[in-house]
Amino acid sequence: MASATPRPIVAGNWKMNGTSISLKEIRLLTGMLKGVRLKCDVMVCPPATLLSRVQGLTRSSRIRLGGQDCHDKVSGAHTGDVSADMLSDAGATAVIVGHSERRADHGETDAVVAAKAAAAHKSDLTAIVCIGETLAQRKAGETLRIIGAQLKKSLPASSTATNTVIAYEPVWAIGTGLTPTPAEIRAVHRHIRKGLLRIIGPKAGMRVPVLYGGSVKPGNAEELMAVEDVNGALVGGASLKAADFIGIIKAYT
Ligand code: PEP
Repeated sequence: MASATPRPIVAGNWKMNGTSISLKEIRLLTGMLKGVRLKCDVMVCPPATLLSRVQGLTRSSRIRLGGQDCHDKVSGAHTGDVSADMLSDAGATAVIVGHSERRADHGETDAVVAAKAAAAHKSDLTAIVCIGETLAQRKAGETLRIIGAQLKKSLPASSTATNTVIAYEPVWAIGTGLTPTPAEIRAVHRHIRKGLLRIIGPKAGMRVPVLYGGSVKPGNAEELMAVEDVNGALVGGASLKAADFIGIIKAYT
């Protein structure tokens, strides 16, 4: 029988970073992971241009691959976009949708994010759905309301315990070196878990991993990953170097 506690995931989001030379970090990471007993899954989300090559290097390792975004259509006249099918074909088993940088840079609404997550599900990809409040919203005491609304509106009806991961990423913590306190993270994750029980159902909602993201580093990973209801991390900057990323993964050894 499947466990009610989600298996943690440590996922690295390379964002718009990485060319051929960065593949050495993947080689280093696969080497560092050999023989290590892990209590989490490890995922790397490189730019789409590197997916196939990273897939070649990680095929016989435990590293899973993810895309950073997908279009909500399978194919068509959408210059520059990548479909969930294309990501799957390149070796991805997951895709990040609704990252706050996509929401800010491309005006993606919760409805757009839900459509992208549904497209990911149709292509058998796990959708890593990102939600998070701005600093102004936190200061105004709006965090839980904003998070609850984003969660409800960003999850499509196709969401299940096996095809959905939530990443709670306070916008003000991304790339800033700032993090909420463990108590603040716990309060939001507990709220997200309650929302999942309502939206996905009491049993399935318990099994959806809820990651924390925002300035996770080797130095704070152990403390942040120990927070109740945190089931792993979505890591930006510190995932670019294997030596830093492994320092975060080690929170789960
Ligand atoms: C992110 O972009 O998803 C992220 C968490 O970035 P960073 O770890 O650099 O704050």
